[in-house]
This record gives sequence, structure tokens and C-alpha cells, in this order.
Amino acid sequence: MFNCPICGNSMKVEQSVSLVCEKQHCYDISKQGYVNMLFHTTKTKYDRALFESRNIISRSGFFDPMLEGISNRILQAQGADRGGELKILDAGCGEGSHLMEVVSQLEERQSSHKVLGVGVDIAKEGIVMASKAGADQVWCVADLAHSPFADRQFDFIMNILSPSNYAEFRRLLADDGMVIKVIPGDDYLQELRKMFYSQTSKESYSNDHTMELFSRHYERIDSERIQYRVVLDSKRMNHLINMTPLSWGASPETCEQTMGDEMEVTVDFTVLYGWN
Ligand SMILES: [Zn+2]
Repeated sequence: MFNCPICGNSMKVEQSVSLVCEKQHCYDISKQGYVNMLFHTTKTKYDRALFESRNIISRSGFFDPMLEGISNRILQAQGADRGGELKILDAGCGEGSHLMEVVSQLEERQSSHKVLGVGVDIAKEGIVMASKAGADQVWCVADLAHSPFADRQFDFIMNILSPSNYAEFRRLLADDGMVIKVIPGDDYLQELRKMFYSQTSKESYSNDHTMELFSRHYERIDSERIQYRVVLDSKRMNHLINMTPLSWGASPETCEQTMGDEMEVTVDFTVLYGWN
């Protein structure tokens, strides 16, 4: 499954504690079972607190209708039985909850395939959490631009609310595979947007540019809009505000003002499907 991110050669596991390539580049496998392919840990805004908030929001069911939509599509797409193992990459998996949910939905609803989930993220904090919760999946700290995987092996690549690397997606996707990209819809968390950014240019949002970019990279595309509303108690509201990049541009005072109330928020996703 792995290709060395430095020299591109294939790799093998040695004594179950490291991955070594033909040129002896060596990467540790941690006790929790994830592989670290980064030599320097990159500091990102995605720290432990953010991933804990996202995990709590995830487990409250906030993303479930969107993830069900994805699972349905995967089941439909592999209707013509290809047999064997189904490999799904989550590019930018964070703390892994989306991938684990999709894999468990697929396993529940079809038993003919074994499903292998592979999660990759540049933020080590996310992967550490993911590897503790999802022992059956493969987790990897790596830069998506130099991703450590062999060519054309993934049946599905998910990329949920996270930056894309289309060249890598193309390289990694199996010939009849499908890329699934989730982006915020125009009304996503509009209630927060109004509070944080009233009368500024950030008050409204459009995903036209991202959709256009996506459509340029695939021969055939399809899209689906998934909208629903969620009521969050004050505790979960705080976690939602902590986890969303929307709050990063808002002043701490504004964030504080909005914390502490139960709220109903709009969830609005555009799911893009692409085939090479
Ligand atoms: Zn190497």
C-alpha cells in the first residue's frame, strides 16, 4: 500500500515497528498503530482541543445525514460487484470520525466486501486520536502533497471539508474509482456567519469557485446538496464554535457572546462526485 514519500520506492514493514523502503528510508509505526511519514511535525491550527471538539460534535450525529449520503453513493457505485476488498482513503481525515462512520455504515449494510479505511492527515494530533479509536483502519501522518501511497489503489477517495490535491487524487484513484469531495453549501452555519460577520464581506459565502475547480479536474462529475437543521445545546454550541474555521476570523469577544446558548443551526453541504 505504501510508497516512500522521499524516493517513491515501495515499502515493507520491518519487525512491526517501522516501514522501510528499498533505499532504507525508515518511518516509525507508533504503539497506537499509526505511521508518521513527516520528518518535521507541522504546527497547524488543528490542535488537540479542536479535534476533541470536532469529535464531540461528530458523535452527537451532526454529520450523520451527510455521511449517510456518501455511504449510499458508495453502495450504489459498487453495485456491479467488483469483489475483494474495498479501499477507501480519507484525505484530510482529522480525528477520523467521518471515515470510521462511513466504514461502519458500509459494513453494516453489505457483507460481501471487506472494507479497509485509510486515513491521512498532516496534523499528528488528529491521527493520534483516530488511531486510538479505530484499530481496524490504517492511519498515517503525512503531507497530502507527498502522500506515501502506491498508485491507483483506492476505490474511493473522500475529502471532507479539507483542502484537495487533485494531482495526487488522480495518481491514487483506481481506474474505475470515485472521488467524493464535501464542501460547505452557501447556507452552512449561516446563523454563526451572521453573528460573527454581520455587515462584512464574510457575511455571505459561495462555493462556486471550488465547484468550478473540481469540475475542471474530472471527466464526469455529479453533485448533491444535503441540507438539514440541527439543535445544539450550549455545551455542543461551544464545541461547534471551537471546531469551525468560521470562528477564527471573529473577535474573541464575539465568540464569547455567542457561547452559552442553545441554538438551531443550518447544516448545508455540497457533495461532489468525480470520475477520472
Ligand atoms: Zn525511500
